[in-house]
Amino acid sequence: MKSKLLTVSAIIAVLAIVLILRPALTATPRIYKKSEILMDTVITLTVVSNSEKKAGEAIDTAFKYLRQYEKMLSFFDASSEVSAINKNAGIKPVKVSSDTYELTKKAIEYAALSGGAFDPAIGPAMVLWDFKNKKRPTIEELKEVLPLLDFTHIALNDNDSSVMLKDNGMLLDLGGIAKGYAADKTVALLKNIGITAGIAAMAGDIRVWGQRPDGSPWRVGIRSPRGSNDDLAGVLSLKDMAVSTSGDYERFFIEDGVRYHHLIVPSTGMPARDFQSVTVVNPKGEVTDALSTAVFVMGKEKALRFLQKTNLMAYLIYSDGSTFISENLRAMLEDH
Ligand code: ADP
Ligand code: MG
Repeated sequence: MKSKLLTVSAIIAVLAIVLILRPALTATPRIYKKSEILMDTVITLTVVSNSEKKAGEAIDTAFKYLRQYEKMLSFFDASSEVSAINKNAGIKPVKVSSDTYELTKKAIEYAALSGGAFDPAIGPAMVLWDFKNKKRPTIEELKEVLPLLDFTHIALNDNDSSVMLKDNGMLLDLGGIAKGYAADKTVALLKNIGITAGIAAMAGDIRVWGQRPDGSPWRVGIRSPRGSNDDLAGVLSLKDMAVSTSGDYERFFIEDGVRYHHLIVPSTGMPARDFQSVTVVNPKGEVTDALSTAVFVMGKEKALRFLQKTNLMAYLIYSDGSTFISENLRAMLEDH
């Protein structure tokens, strides 16, 4: 009798434990997110997880990586690897980390692919523009630096991962590709530690993977360039894709009715004129970031030829507000 009682209470105890644990074992996946200001912008990481603790740890690990990444690649931080390359322009090669080396190499590849519209040697022109204080360079100042804007004068050495700018005064600026590449790296890192879905949003460079907890795709809005922050020109439904927008509304000032912004044509040193924004969609963030900048800078005709040649998915908003949406993007665009 006694032992029977014991068995019954043991069963009850086991049942109770199972009931207590059940919610944890079958916890439904939820969305967790956190933002930090890094790389001169707001970075928001969103992950889907069935554990708040796991989500928090994953996000913290990713931000730790991104802080190191920023330290290496910042154009303005005097202790960054990019600054070391720039200080040694025309002097000597600089050995750098694999991230910096790889990103510089990729930047040169996209520069070649875009016929020089994207040019990571844009630095000497960029520093002449001061968008915060609404100061623009004179034609003479620009003319002087134009010969320095030449990515073919960036020398790479695979043997020791070194980068050298061949001419005195050259400045490497990876700002047009660094955030998209960071999105790729962040997604790889989060996938590696078991996060199966989420969004890495580096301001206008966004990469999504997996799907929302209810099984639906992630949705990413394309900003309406002349509207308020939450005015959208369109919404993309995306699965395992990156999307980048380069816009003339990010860093700009207006003088005598003319808008001067941070997307610069390497052959003139002046802001590109044909678009308000260019959005590119591709599985890789490095592609969308570099090529949204490239297409913006190319101008109308070259841009359309480039899209045809590369089959790139793109949403163009011209300077008069009219749009061009590539055929291969339409299925991802809601209400079209
Ligand atoms: P954002 O930084 O606003 O997301 P982009 O990715 O389009 O926008 O990059 C703009 C940055 O790229 C500029 O701030 C500058 O550092 C750099 N840049 C500007 N013009 C060019 C160009 N023609 N080629 C390569 N990089 C450029
Ligand atoms: Mg870009």
